[in-house]
Amino acid sequence: MVHDPKTLALIAHDGKKADMLGFVLTHQEVLKNYELVATNTTGKLLNDQTSLKVIQMLSGPLGGDAQIAAMVAEGKIEAVFFFVDPLGKHPHDPDIQTLLRICNVHDVPLATNAATATYIISEKAL
Ligand code: PGA
Repeated sequence: MVHDPKTLALIAHDGKKADMLGFVLTHQEVLKNYELVATNTTGKLLNDQTSLKVIQMLSGPLGGDAQIAAMVAEGKIEAVFFFVDPLGKHPHDPDIQTLLRICNVHDVPLATNAATATYIISEKAL
């Protein structure tokens, strides 16, 4: 399925939100060429702190990761930037695992840390 313009998903656990903000600020010029969706708190942070317009889904613990997983399954997402906090406990871990799995089922690029995200965006692989 081809969608124009392409849509990217941005999600960051609380312990990684500062990393996400830094990543987005650094790559704002590239990111402004895409539709952007995010889980609620991540999206609010990016809407407040950057000049980008980010669609806010539900917060992760309330089903936002599951919403984005559904969009991936429907072919609506070009790539997922999901900065996970491996040291945190997450009540919505089943939803997180679903999103990771659905990206792998549909072979959708998935960056789970800032280093990979930077590599993907710098290589202009999207
Ligand atoms: P949040 O959700 O952006 O609403 O904090 C992220 C998550 O925990 O999956």
